[in-house]
Amino acid sequence: MQALRWIIPFALLVFVSLQCRQVGPPGGGRDGYGSRKSSGAERVPISRINREVNLKVDMVQRGTHGRKVIRPMTPRYITIHSTQNYTADAERHSVALKRGALRSPKTRTGNRIGYLIWHFTVDDKVAIQHMPTSEQGEHADFHGPGNRLSIGIEMCEHRGSSRVATMERTAKLTAILMKKHRIPLRNVVPHYHWPRRGRHPANKNCPHFLMDNGRPGAKWRGFLGRVNYYYQRLG
Ligand SMILES: [Zn+2]
Repeated sequence: MQALRWIIPFALLVFVSLQCRQVGPPGGGRDGYGSRKSSGAERVPISRINREVNLKVDMVQRGTHGRKVIRPMTPRYITIHSTQNYTADAERHSVALKRGALRSPKTRTGNRIGYLIWHFTVDDKVAIQHMPTSEQGEHADFHGPGNRLSIGIEMCEHRGSSRVATMERTAKLTAILMKKHRIPLRNVVPHYHWPRRGRHPANKNCPHFLMDNGRPGAKWRGFLGRVNYYYQRLG
């Protein structure tokens, strides 16, 4: 009998502790990210994300070079590129665009104005805007909807730069533009998305470091995940 006085409370203690282990700690464990999201992601003021993007506005002069013809646009897509230029950061691209140095032969079915132009260039330190988002660029598919309806963002890949930092800054900028122009995530596309008439291959391997075997796959989905991560947090 003396022994039972100890065994019964001990058995109860074991039972209670086993029950607790089955329930587990509240809010923790494997689906911590998912449970945070379902209970409402932490809101981040758009001004803070804007600061982190570090956007500088340095437009190509209206009426010159890539902006010599003003073609109005209501953006419905955002097109992501990479420069494939291993020596130039965002600032050098900005200078080249302002000087009219990025020429491309104007043809009936190809480039429409004789210059390349896009809206933003992003590197691991800064994002620079070259033209208003209310104007069409010349960066995707000549006369196609990629040029007529999308904001073009070029990611730099110069030697010594951090690709991760460049991609994160691009994801933040993309999220802000989605919010501002009511563009859904499904309309955030790689350059690959827009076939170029008369070119082989028609679908460019761009941005090449986010493609799998030359086309969108796991890496592209991972990037869209980062865009959505910031988009969901914009207050
Ligand atoms: Zn491209």
